[in-house]
Amino acid sequence: MSPLAHGHVSSCEAIELEERYGAHNYHPLPVVLARGEGVHVWDPEGRRYFDFLSAYSAVNQGHCHPRIVQALIEQARVLTLTSRAFFNNVLGEYERYVTEAFGYEMVLPMNTGVEGDETACKLARKWGYMKKGIPTDQAKIIVCEGNFHGRTLGIISASTDPDCTNGFGPFLPGFVKIPYNDLAALDAAAADPMVCAFLVEPIQGEAGVFVPDDGYLTQVREICTRHNVLFIADEVQTGIARTGRLLCCDHENVRPDVLILGKALSGGLLPVSAVLADKEIMLCIKPGEHGSTFGGNPLACKVAIAALEVVKEEKLAENAQRLGHVFRERVAAMGHPMIGTVRGKGLLNAVVVTPQNGKTAWDICVAMKDNGLLAKPTHEHIIRFAPPLVINDAQLDESLAIIEATFSQF
Ligand code: PLP
Repeated sequence: MSPLAHGHVSSCEAIELEERYGAHNYHPLPVVLARGEGVHVWDPEGRRYFDFLSAYSAVNQGHCHPRIVQALIEQARVLTLTSRAFFNNVLGEYERYVTEAFGYEMVLPMNTGVEGDETACKLARKWGYMKKGIPTDQAKIIVCEGNFHGRTLGIISASTDPDCTNGFGPFLPGFVKIPYNDLAALDAAAADPMVCAFLVEPIQGEAGVFVPDDGYLTQVREICTRHNVLFIADEVQTGIARTGRLLCCDHENVRPDVLILGKALSGGLLPVSAVLADKEIMLCIKPGEHGSTFGGNPLACKVAIAALEVVKEEKLAENAQRLGHVFRERVAAMGHPMIGTVRGKGLLNAVVVTPQNGKTAWDICVAMKDNGLLAKPTHEHIIRFAPPLVINDAQLDESLAIIEATFSQF
């Protein structure tokens, strides 16, 4: 009998299978993960790693959090999917919970992060025509250079990253691109009466954890209000306690008009995303104009409630805030010549790597993997460090020792 028949796939076999049968749209580190618990993951041979990617911040609550898993199992036994052709007895409870948790009047449930972004763009255009009086098909949305909002054709039309766009045109019109962290550019662009919204990440995650100047979001709020332009915050990566507050916008006590959440909204168990806004905006979309078969399914709703409860009860934002400081201070103090800028907020951090003797961020990540810690380069010379927010002091100490020992091998 082949090893596959037993379900025991070795690391080598797993990599071979993916290479042969899967599309090559990713370039993973050569490690296979077979189990996860809290901040740790294990490969099929039983080697343990610290997970410093957390599935791009989807696993803020830690791998397989027992309380979220329990919610999933209980609901999976009862009812998983009805579609929105009918009401279900969990969606309303979730909608009340999530709107109260984030302080909005209404929510539109979707699945992936990019669907959240697409939904927010559709909502903003509709609001532009119905409420702002923009002539039909003329609406524009301002976005930032270096953004990452996902991979659909609609949203890559907003991208300035050639890896996202090359070979995929023609693109959707109606996006105006300005530099990130540039208030003067925003003020000028938002003055155009055809602009309905500004879509922005409070910290640019995929671009390499670019943190804007203090006060940026406060000024964004002011400019958007003054020009009657919706401020849409994409908190798919920065939200749900990752940066040391429930939302990254909370650092400046700023309230966007439209909030997009995804990833950790389910603790990494299912794709669950959400767009939140007040009625004045949300009710611009009428029955039949937008939706998704899986959006708002009872399984996702129960999982999301449990995932948000864990964030609150385990004080994950506070933990991220405190340990984020420790992380940045200790890495900066390592003083290794390949360690350049260390930046971030909470437990969303990045180290800019200065290549040395032909060795790059990729080589550092492979060596860290061999030493028991997983992180992935973003944009060649930047390593993002984003462990699950349930990490404790002792685990962070151990992780920092691995990071330091790895750099010292170079
Ligand atoms: N928006 C931001 C800020 C993201 O970081 C991501 C994914 O990394 C997305 C949207 C897209 O999310 P998804 O991959 O779930 O579609």
